[in-house]
Amino acid sequence: MFATPVEVEPGILRVTLPLPSGPRHVHCFLLRGDDGWTLVDTGLGLPEPSWEEVLAQVDGQVVRIFVTHMHPDHVGGAAPAAQATGAPVFQGRLDYAQCERVWGSTDWPERIAAWFVRNGVPPQVADELIESGHVFADFVRFAWNPTLVEPGDDVDGWRVLAFPGHADGHLCLYRDGVLVAGDTLLAPITPAIGLYPESRPDPLGDYSDSLRAIAELDPRVSYGGHGETINEPAARAREILVHHDERLDRTEAALSAEPRSGYDVSHVLFGTALPAIQRRFAVAETLSHLERLVVLGRAVRHEDDRIVAYTAR
Ligand SMILES: [Zn+2]
Repeated sequence: MFATPVEVEPGILRVTLPLPSGPRHVHCFLLRGDDGWTLVDTGLGLPEPSWEEVLAQVDGQVVRIFVTHMHPDHVGGAAPAAQATGAPVFQGRLDYAQCERVWGSTDWPERIAAWFVRNGVPPQVADELIESGHVFADFVRFAWNPTLVEPGDDVDGWRVLAFPGHADGHLCLYRDGVLVAGDTLLAPITPAIGLYPESRPDPLGDYSDSLRAIAELDPRVSYGGHGETINEPAARAREILVHHDERLDRTEAALSAEPRSGYDVSHVLFGTALPAIQRRFAVAETLSHLERLVVLGRAVRHEDDRIVAYTAR
């Protein structure tokens, strides 16, 4: 399954790489162009398999590398891929700014830990959550100073589209009914939509707009970073909108007149027995829903310098 390129349609190859946790795999794509291949996404940056090994099975050169978003399993192999190919790396301007802030700074772990504590996570648990993130950090080898791209740009005949939500600066490529979607549209899992510090304030609102835009675009097919090829992207986008509407209802139902933190509410929504790495996603995901409810006028946020908490409207 891993590392052997598979042709998913003429001119598009899928390369699946291993992950140590989560969905256990990530898909990268090779798009054939006149001058060579465009590699979309680069895996986590694990030493095995190497990009040399993967690309030895591909006919022709990789002439550019495109990163959809700065999550570790997409950007982590960018520097090794660039080194293996000599190709330039293209990444969104906003996405690269966040990439540098998270993976290129030494104080990010403390900043995110303080933010978790502010959202009700007990300090010791916050340390565990941060520790669990280090599993990835060790492997992230993003490419410094990539060629920055903007929504609307053209990359070898593919249109660059911004679909924020899963990541603020998430970009996709679109051409002739084909969407190379990164983690914007997935099946059977749904993309994680989390709130994080120093990010856009309403990621679930952003994501809902992105899903509606995909339904409108109505691609023939969508290739995502995990799971299955999606042959009815518009229908899948509408399905995920319904999923979040239901989760918003459950989040609202978990609130009362008594202020509750994002951490507290995550226990109601996702249960009490989660390992640290999953609690981290659960808290971030709960917060994106709570903030959406605030924007919709269905919840109230209360904050002082110590803690952020929410009540029912
Ligand atoms: Zn992602």
